[in-house]
Amino acid sequence: MYNAKAYSAVSGTSPLASTTIPRRDPNEYDVQIEILFCGICHSDLHSARNEWTGTVYPIVPGHEIVGRVTAVGSGVTKFKPGDVAAVGCMVDSDGTCPQCKEGLEQFCPNVILTYNSADKHLGGVTYGGYSDSVVVDERFVLRVPANLDLAATAPLLCAGITTYSPLRHWGITSGKKVGVVGIGGLGHMGVKLAHAFGAHVVAFTTSPHKKEDALSLGADEVVVSRNNDEMQKHAGSFDFILDTVSADHDINAYLNLLARDGNITLVGGPPMPLSVAAFSLIVGRHSLSGSNIGGIAETQEMLDFCGEHNITSDVEVIPIQKVNEAYERLLKSDVKYRFSIDMASLKSE
Ligand SMILES: [Zn+2]
Ligand SMILES: [Zn+2]
Repeated sequence: MYNAKAYSAVSGTSPLASTTIPRRDPNEYDVQIEILFCGICHSDLHSARNEWTGTVYPIVPGHEIVGRVTAVGSGVTKFKPGDVAAVGCMVDSDGTCPQCKEGLEQFCPNVILTYNSADKHLGGVTYGGYSDSVVVDERFVLRVPANLDLAATAPLLCAGITTYSPLRHWGITSGKKVGVVGIGGLGHMGVKLAHAFGAHVVAFTTSPHKKEDALSLGADEVVVSRNNDEMQKHAGSFDFILDTVSADHDINAYLNLLARDGNITLVGGPPMPLSVAAFSLIVGRHSLSGSNIGGIAETQEMLDFCGEHNITSDVEVIPIQKVNEAYERLLKSDVKYRFSIDMASLKSE
């Protein structure tokens, strides 16, 4: 065991602050990573403030990790010291259940999340990426294409795979018409990826001033969702709509825009149940579903795809000392479009 520097919250109402945490020495199949950048996901904020309940304190958030390998166990074959490596939302699973056997570790009943999951090695809970190092089983460590900017790659590990996986699952290719609701951390990746898949991309936003931004991200059209005339022009036309909104909104307005057999997939998490009119589904045989990150193999596929198409997240790089300020700005959607923490800033703590 050794001590790593980190930022943690000790209660739901206290700010994140500098601390040290225990990390295990690498076991046979472990990869030790010096963390270079960690993205800030809205889940980090929800968890730090116990908004989803179940947070164990102290909590070290962070599941969009990019870094450099510093040591590997004797059984590790995929990585060597010096390699760039990444870790997303999961660090372990049982490897034996039907979900794991299909490469869908995110649905494993025994999945170990990167933070706030039971740590079978050290006891207590797992600590995430707001830290200078992490030790992870190589099965859950990803390779990063050499051409990608590392600060801007970090958010791919959650926001990227969360939007990539449903686009793949629902067969998005060129010729499909895809809507993306919300242009934030998730939405901006949804627009970029759907565009790269060759789809005709329509971005939905409540704010007319986001129009230019959405077009520059790769949207072919932008619809202001509060403008009923603009919405009705697209009635019955979408193959797929990715809904990234985590606030309450009228899902029927979007279901009515689907073509026959069209699907809406939710990746945002509104706190209150959405009200769905049965006829929004019945007419046109529409479906409404959800999606949860992606498996490890698919996460690697997403990173490789991003390497080939030169796709990264738009990030504002901050020192760890600005993390609390960043959380407040996140609540106001005051970031284009993801914060990425430069972990070199932790050295001065
Ligand atoms: Zn996340
Ligand atoms: Zn499993």
